[in-house]
Amino acid sequence: MKTQIYISIIFLMLLFSCQEELDMEPDENIPRETPDNRIYKLPIVVHVLHHGEPVGEGPNLSDERILRQIETLNEDFRKKPDTRGYNDHSDGADTMIEFVLADKTPNGSKTNGINRLDISRMEEPSFGYSPKRFAEYDYWPSNQYINVWTIPLDDSMMCIALGEATGPKTDLPGTEHLSLPAPGEPEGILINWNHFGESEINCHARFGRTLTHEMGHYLGLLHPWGAKNCDLNDYCEDTPAVDYFVFGKHPQAGCNGEAVMIQNYMNYTHDEVMNIFTNDQAYRMRYVLENHLGRRALWEKK
Ligand SMILES: [Zn+2]
Repeated sequence: MKTQIYISIIFLMLLFSCQEELDMEPDENIPRETPDNRIYKLPIVVHVLHHGEPVGEGPNLSDERILRQIETLNEDFRKKPDTRGYNDHSDGADTMIEFVLADKTPNGSKTNGINRLDISRMEEPSFGYSPKRFAEYDYWPSNQYINVWTIPLDDSMMCIALGEATGPKTDLPGTEHLSLPAPGEPEGILINWNHFGESEINCHARFGRTLTHEMGHYLGLLHPWGAKNCDLNDYCEDTPAVDYFVFGKHPQAGCNGEAVMIQNYMNYTHDEVMNIFTNDQAYRMRYVLENHLGRRALWEKK
């Protein structure tokens, strides 16, 4: 287990890079307010990459499992009562952010938002485990859709490689700790198919919270430990400061002996204990949805 953790840490560290430019136009640098009552509805396309398995078998995930994953995402982001995403914590937020599967393709055809791709018939792209690589199979414009690729990794990567997301370039502090694509490079979220939606796998990540976590990054959230610094961690005052990677499901102490918020979606903790985005985290994501041009275009009516 420890080896797995170290591999995960090295793997995750390799994925982060730093860039400086902001994906905001010069005249857009005056921050826009985030109206408290606005509900953001964001369209998703799920590119299901598989090797020719029938629908519902292995990485060719069933429609039901995909629909349930989108439902889970909404339960978590909207803190829906009577679901795993509910909490009664005083800092727990209903982010007022919702997700829907796309109903139109980029060329205007009808779709259910699930794009199945048999990659055994396609040329293997170069690049590493990144949206840049998987976008070579298919990619829809990131100012109209959130691209999610479910990746057919083999079972040896189960519980080790979970997911990866590009982050938005904004003027929010700590943005440099996100995985920022170069200008014009594909943006989106990768999820190891084993961890997409609910399943019976024997693993800490089997209730669909990998997508919740990665969506947090996609909308500008850092891990609670940020750059592993007690003073400058995730720039959210209502997530107790911690300066190490938070795994597991048991109470643990962070900076100044304060209890770590193990139930926060932005940890590496077990899916079963996760149920909180805080008010500051919600504000940060809503700020991105107002101020980042591409993320704003996802919900703004043309
Ligand atoms: Zn993460």
